[in-house]
Amino acid sequence: MANISITRRCLRHCSYCFARHELAQDLATDMLPETYEAALGFLERSGFTEARLLGGEPTEHPLFCEYIDRARKRGFRIFVFSGGLISQPALEYMSALPMDSFSLLLNTTTQSNDLENLGSQQRQVCRTLGAKVTLGVNICSPNQDTTYLFNWMDEYGLCPRIRVGIANPIWGGNNEFFQLRGPRVVPIFERLVTIGTERGVNVYFDCGFTPCMFSRDFVDSHSDMFVLPEIEPEASTLQTTNSYDLVGHDQKQQTSLVEAIGIRCNPVVDILPEGDCIACYALSRFRRFPLPLGGSRNDLVRSFNDELLPMLPMGIHRECAYCDYLARGLCDGGCRARRALRLRPNALIPLDKEPAAERHHIHDNN
Ligand code: SF4
Ligand code: SF4
Repeated sequence: MANISITRRCLRHCSYCFARHELAQDLATDMLPETYEAALGFLERSGFTEARLLGGEPTEHPLFCEYIDRARKRGFRIFVFSGGLISQPALEYMSALPMDSFSLLLNTTTQSNDLENLGSQQRQVCRTLGAKVTLGVNICSPNQDTTYLFNWMDEYGLCPRIRVGIANPIWGGNNEFFQLRGPRVVPIFERLVTIGTERGVNVYFDCGFTPCMFSRDFVDSHSDMFVLPEIEPEASTLQTTNSYDLVGHDQKQQTSLVEAIGIRCNPVVDILPEGDCIACYALSRFRRFPLPLGGSRNDLVRSFNDELLPMLPMGIHRECAYCDYLARGLCDGGCRARRALRLRPNALIPLDKEPAAERHHIHDNN
């Protein structure tokens, strides 16, 4: 899938933010209408039926509601990634949208200078949008408390799914990320699945997870999560309306609601406000291409892969070289940005300098 980042504005300043480097760039703050229309055209040419809007905080774009209207007029279903700091007009607008053509992923990670205020605003989003909301959480440390997720789901009647992300590094950047010290089990991940199963909630994982983060027993008893199912030939033409399974995934896998956790690192293709395309935010310093006037996402994916893959080590750990998960095709070596961290210094040259400081207050420069 491809995402459209319509703005660099964001009032949250999460230390793990995977877009941190890009948000601080002195480039277009808000995507212009002509760039947005070109991005929608790119999605159409790529065969996507869903427009996925992110930022920054996409609801802060001054034309946020108009952009949703434009995408809906072109027949797209809308999926919005939000941190929950949403203005009342934007919230009311989203609340009036039909359920079958709109949903919102609420990133609930509880990092904020003003946690109480953020929490109450996120609850307000849940209260207002109800089942249109899927909760998401980014895990930054092994001891993170996540129990509130299930409580919110019950309290506000939210979509019974939770998207779990892991804080990945921005290669060449300076975000805080989940530190992995060799292939080790991270109990919090299994625990979330277990609680989800008990409570009838589908807990699913974003890109960057690997089988070695789970116990052998867990991997063996959850083969549906770790082994890519056979895809029926006729299913390959289907477009799923579920968004959660598309984050960081290759188009060939979009037909399945159940995907192998260890092979989810592929160029997502994020279209930035100025119209440049990156493989994903974690690799934003490696390569960017202008939004193509013709062609589709697959062409960009090929270009990113051709340039990056030959340079990367086999996996994120030294142990990957003799890992049986890798040999059995259950893992492709983990997050490419983590793999790039293992390269000799300067083996990959960043495109641009890391901005001196994260910009905390972005003003409209369009
Ligand atoms: S290949 Fe590496 S990252 Fe993947 S499961 Fe094995 S040790 Fe973990
Ligand atoms: S490099 Fe791969 S796993 Fe890492 S953030 Fe990007 S898509 Fe996800």
